[in-house]
Amino acid sequence: MSFFSTRGGSCVTASQAVLRGLAPDGGLYVPSIFPMVSNRKISELMEMDYARRATEILKLFLEDFSIAEIDEATRGAYGTDRFRDPAVAPLKRLNESTWVLELFHGPTLAFKDMALQLLPRLMALSARKNGEEREVAILVATSGDTGKAALEGFRDVPGTSCTVFYPLDGVSDVQKLQMVTTGGNNTHVIAVKGNFDDAQTGVKELFSSESFAEDVGGLGKTLSSANSINFGRLAPQIVYYFSAYADLLRSRAILMGDPVNFCVPTGNFGDILAGYYARNMGLPVNRLICASNRNNVLTDFFRKGVYSTHRTFFKTISPSMDILVSSNLERLLYEAADRDGELIRVWMDQLKKCGSFSVGEQRWEWIISLFAGYCTDDKDTLAEIRNRFEGEQYLMDPHTAVAGHALREYRDETGDDTPTVIVSTASPYKFAADVLRGIAGPETAEGLDAFAASEELERRTGVPMPEQVRKLRDLPVRHTAVCEKDAMAAAVLREFGK
Ligand SMILES: *Cc1c(COP(=O)(O)O)cnc(C)c1O
Repeated sequence: MSFFSTRGGSCVTASQAVLRGLAPDGGLYVPSIFPMVSNRKISELMEMDYARRATEILKLFLEDFSIAEIDEATRGAYGTDRFRDPAVAPLKRLNESTWVLELFHGPTLAFKDMALQLLPRLMALSARKNGEEREVAILVATSGDTGKAALEGFRDVPGTSCTVFYPLDGVSDVQKLQMVTTGGNNTHVIAVKGNFDDAQTGVKELFSSESFAEDVGGLGKTLSSANSINFGRLAPQIVYYFSAYADLLRSRAILMGDPVNFCVPTGNFGDILAGYYARNMGLPVNRLICASNRNNVLTDFFRKGVYSTHRTFFKTISPSMDILVSSNLERLLYEAADRDGELIRVWMDQLKKCGSFSVGEQRWEWIISLFAGYCTDDKDTLAEIRNRFEGEQYLMDPHTAVAGHALREYRDETGDDTPTVIVSTASPYKFAADVLRGIAGPETAEGLDAFAASEELERRTGVPMPEQVRKLRDLPVRHTAVCEKDAMAAAVLREFGK
């Protein structure tokens, strides 16, 4: 199997797509075909553990990797030393027709771990396959969750290093503590005096700077990125859609071939896109419900067929979905455009120049036969946390609650009672103060720091606090670098010991 760029160019192997991240023409790598998974294969998944399920799905895409290599990578990524729940991505039943797929049992308590535990291993293998002898130096700008997940994934992976930039005053206390206490001998964390956009712009400039590439090259390193447009992050996410279906079969909630909906809290469109890829591979998916917070650019897109970034950016209590440009949507657009890279280029140009583009009536109708979009504001998100806890004794984090609320609206509007899986992307303890406000009222969280809020949440709900949160308070701070926003290159070189 080879990989094309959504903008028309390139034909590369899987390992090259992983190593490069973005195609040279600015497009995203997409598989040349979608390999089919038969019903028989899906029923075989029922008896396998998660790592084995991952190997079975990933080997269909990673053709220039041996099965032994993939298996070693998935065993390492999804072992019990990494994921607290031996099922890795357990499925919990909420009611007659609704389940929750929990993707937050990894080291950083958010779904980013599902991909970022595996990507570094695929990256190291890809480097070897392509004769890359230099160390692969990963640079990441983070608004919170991705940074820590990347650090934990790349920590001590031979042949790689990971450098994360975060906005000095732009992340939560827990997120900051998670990052600056990271261990390992190849991890670097740098605070930027600026906001997330400054950090992100700075990293993009580093990637396009020839002199910086030379400096880094002189130290025996080559740059790469671990952001969510890398196919190596997308592929591991396809696995849990199959895994959830296999678990539904196993529990006899459905019969082979029965359609299932997935309802996904969405930001960059990576998670839900993997569900669409699973559908293209033969998984019986009926509808993919795209849940957004007040930053509802995708809701509007699914309602009108027009993508427009002419809107205000809101900070919400589901910060990992605070986003205006959903990069991975380009991969769906590519299929909607019948794989016409030229058309994608036109749309992306319009987006850049005018802030919007329209896909046209016919393509829009095709898209909404697969997807439905809903959005939820903070007030309804808090109410949803309370409703699910009181009604179903299930504690949701704010991102998951956005999806929970979207599903209610979808069902009210369509009457569709297809069994539905809500994809849960974070532990409630990652956002303890807001979850506490949701279940017990705003006054209960007032004046509490993240640790006190976690303790109060545990006391009130009986849902055990993950070890990672408890331990965080006592871990030593290992990273203290701070830099001006126009001095990021020098800061990286300092970290690299130049
Ligand atoms: C990243 C993230 C999301 C959004 O996922 P996308 O793949 O960007 O759509 C949702 N919830 C949490 C907790 C996240 O960290």
